[in-house]
Amino acid sequence: MTSRAGIGWDSHRFEEGRTLVLGGVEVPSEQGLAGHSDADVLTHAVIDALLGAAGLGDIGQHFPDTDERYAGADSLALLSEVCTFLEDHGWTVRHVDATILCEEPKLAPHRDEMRTRLSRTIGCRALEVNVKFTTGEGMGFVGRGEGIGALAVATVERA
Ligand code: MG
Repeated sequence: MTSRAGIGWDSHRFEEGRTLVLGGVEVPSEQGLAGHSDADVLTHAVIDALLGAAGLGDIGQHFPDTDERYAGADSLALLSEVCTFLEDHGWTVRHVDATILCEEPKLAPHRDEMRTRLSRTIGCRALEVNVKFTTGEGMGFVGRGEGIGALAVATVERA
């Protein structure tokens, strides 16, 4: 059995009039995130961690933001496509761990739903998907409330 780990990082800036979507969950917020797709920064980081673990490139390569097909795209649908792609290459997803860096709004009440939605899409148990939250303590783009960042680590296995 070959086991590999991959990392993913993404960030998006806040924009008025957009819906805030994180891990496929619509989070009540005065502003959402700017982006070509639904700007689900958490799911994007998870996708990059999975692609990285499998050695299969990155999100921009598979879903270019110049491609009109991905305008307003549901990122969970993109994650689902990526999981099928990994499966086609013989990889099984074992675990995902992620951290969202966000000053406001408070995200902890949405943790379980994010875990459930991500794990259902990936096809593993919710226990195998962990989502954590931290703030920027007033520092950097997160601390100034300019946007949200997300980091993810994934492990995959192949016989
Ligand atoms: Mg992104």
